[in-house]
Amino acid sequence: LRPPGQVIEVARTLQNAGFEAWCVGGAVRDALLGLAHLDWDLATSATPPEVRRLFKRTVPVGIEFGTIGVLDRDGRMHEVTTFRHDVRTDGRHAEVEFGASLDEDLARRDFTINAIAYDPIARVLRDPFEGQADLQRGVVRAVGNADARMREDRLRALRAIRFAARFDFAIEEATWLAIVASAPFLTRLSPERVKQELDKTMEQVVRPSDALARWRESGAFASLVPTLADAPDSLLRAVDALPVPGLSTRPLRKPLRFAALFSGHDGKAAEQAMRALRFSNQDITTVSVLVDRYARFGASLGDQLASGSAPSGADLRRLAAAVGRLRVAAFLRLCAARWATDDRRVEPRTVRALYRQLLRIAFNEAIEVADLAVDGDDLRRAGIAAGPHLGQTLQRLLDAVIDDPACNTRETLLSLAAHPA
Ligand code: ATP
Ligand code: MG
Repeated sequence: LRPPGQVIEVARTLQNAGFEAWCVGGAVRDALLGLAHLDWDLATSATPPEVRRLFKRTVPVGIEFGTIGVLDRDGRMHEVTTFRHDVRTDGRHAEVEFGASLDEDLARRDFTINAIAYDPIARVLRDPFEGQADLQRGVVRAVGNADARMREDRLRALRAIRFAARFDFAIEEATWLAIVASAPFLTRLSPERVKQELDKTMEQVVRPSDALARWRESGAFASLVPTLADAPDSLLRAVDALPVPGLSTRPLRKPLRFAALFSGHDGKAAEQAMRALRFSNQDITTVSVLVDRYARFGASLGDQLASGSAPSGADLRRLAAAVGRLRVAAFLRLCAARWATDDRRVEPRTVRALYRQLLRIAFNEAIEVADLAVDGDDLRRAGIAAGPHLGQTLQRLLDAVIDDPACNTRETLLSLAAHPA
């Protein structure tokens, strides 16, 4: 176990002043699994005021929970939290009390794998709940009585599912039963906390379908995202298929994964579900438009390709126009993920070729009114009255150009505008 030097320095300062200082939580767990973890949290017997007195630069990041941020020479922040135990809980918020021992602090943590402490000076582990054994066996197990722990904080049900999927672990039986028993009460969690769990699942987990299937099986979807209560496996697996190898995705990975998850429905259903979970307006628009376009064009395009026939240039221009220039890439990635898991059997080679072709069309050919060789002013000067008719005429000209790009000259368009077919 090798915490960063600055973390060891913070621990040394606390210990030299006579306090206990232990690395705790996710970093210890991940290090024992051989995984990198950026934030090494420290737990200490020092009270928050004592921590603030010991270090030159501190930030009261979560002082009501006993957490002080200690800034090192490079301005990096390390979180130091006073040992605490939980009192009076309502299933949503835990209240904390200081003056606890390390073991009490570990006992309030959710899972045994998250309840291991490491003293970076003495280099010893403290593992009263046998978290190391569970790490080795690959098991997520609640600390103490699973039912009681889930009743204290229902979010733990969702956290257990996320950790199991992230590390490809099993969920210990009593813990799983407590998760299932918690499902009807998950509606009491704030939508923000639920969304954060879904976000983390999409970000951290290579194959989110394992987690999503457990959301479905436990009843968590039925409570929290009813549209997904009966989501078929193929849909959940489409989420895993993103990012699609060969079609780079990085910046849009998360919204695309949500688009795949909701793509069994229409755009309205996706919008509703995401609004209930307090997604940002931007994410809601991105996802629901993609879902809508997939429902309208993606599925049938997949059928067409799978049957061996190729869309014409005009078909592709019409598709690019309907999807929108800036969404073409994301749309095809979503299609690729869905086709791959829906038994549509579209060859990856075909998908890559289509992707290149559609991008070339979207960015080089006329697919928007703004790409026409004439604009509204030109039409008005040619005698077409302003108003709705003008917009309709431009749209008609665009349709003609999409059918035959050779029409996209001033002369042809002005004459088409003057002589409707
Ligand atoms: P991640 O990599 O997802 O951040 P993590 O283990 O660091 O994983 P955090 O949410 O950052 O998870 O929490 C840090 C630690 O605090 C956990 O390892 C666990 O010991 C404890 N903890 C967090 N949330 C809870 C909770 N709801 N109930 C009990 N203990 C919790
Ligand atoms: Mg963490």
